[in-house]
Amino acid sequence: MGRVVAFVNQKGGVGKTTSAVSLAAALARRGQRVLLVDLDPQANATSACGLDPRGLRGSYEALLEEAPAEGLVCSVPGESFSILPANPALAGAEVELVPLLARERRLANAVAPLRGSYDWIFIDCPPSLGLLTINALTAADSVIVPVQCEYMALEGLSRLVETLELVRRNLNPGLSVLGVVLTMFDARTRLAQDVVEEVRRHFPQTFETVVPRSVRLSEAPSHGLTIFAYDPGGRAAAAYDALAAEMLARSGAAV
Ligand code: ADP
Ligand code: MG
Repeated sequence: MGRVVAFVNQKGGVGKTTSAVSLAAALARRGQRVLLVDLDPQANATSACGLDPRGLRGSYEALLEEAPAEGLVCSVPGESFSILPANPALAGAEVELVPLLARERRLANAVAPLRGSYDWIFIDCPPSLGLLTINALTAADSVIVPVQCEYMALEGLSRLVETLELVRRNLNPGLSVLGVVLTMFDARTRLAQDVVEEVRRHFPQTFETVVPRSVRLSEAPSHGLTIFAYDPGGRAAAAYDALAAEMLARSGAAV
C-alpha cells in the first residue's frame, strides 16, 4: 500500500515544492510508483512538472466536488511519475471547505482509493497551517519538513510541531515525522553550517543528506523540467537521489 507523505512548513520559500517534485522524480527513477498531489493554490508543482494549471481539473475538484481522483491524475511529460494538479480554483478552497461536513477529511477520502496504485503519494502543501494543510496532515502517514539553511530557520517550527500534535490528538493518531530536509545549503557560509547543527540538535530525524544551494535547481521549474531532466549530473540531482535512498531505507522499503 502506498505511503502518503505531506511536505509541510508554513513558511514559504523553504523548498517544499522543489523537494516534493525532485524526490518524486528520484523515486520514480528508482522504480517506485509515485503520485504527486499539488495542494497549493499557487500550483508551483504543477507548473514545475511542465503542465499549465489553468484548465486542468485536479485537487480542487477532488476536494470540493468529490470527483474520483483517479480520473484527474495526469502523467508528467518526460517523467515516470504522475500528478494530481492544482488549478486557480483551489484558492477558494480554504473558505469553501469551512461549512462542509468532515471538512478535514476530504483529501484523506480522495486519496484512499489511490493507495493501492502507488508506492508513494506526496502532497505539496501551501505555506500556511489552514484547512488545506490540515487536510494534508489528516490524509498523511508521515511528514517531511523542508528547512532552509538561513537565519531564523527554526522560526515557526514549534508552531508546526504543535499543529502536528493537535492533528494526532484529534484527527490522525498515526501521523509521524519521516524527516527534516535541510535545503539551500551554502557551504561557504558559517551561518549555514551553524543552522545545520542547530536543526540537527532540535530534530534528530533530520536526514543526513543536505541539499546544496544550486542555480540549476532554481532554473529547472521555469523550463517545466525536474532537476533529473534538466541537470542530471549536477550536485542537486545527486543530493535528491541520496535523499530518496534515505527515505527508502527509513521507511523500510526495498531499495
Ligand atoms: P516552497 O514550496 O517551500 O515555497 P520552493 O521549493 O518553491 O519553496 O523554493 C523557493 C524558491 O527557491 C524557488 O524559486 C526554488 O526554485 C528555489 N530553490 C529551492 N531549493 C533550492 C536550492 N537548493 N537551491 C537554489 N534554489 C532553490
Ligand atoms: Mg511551494
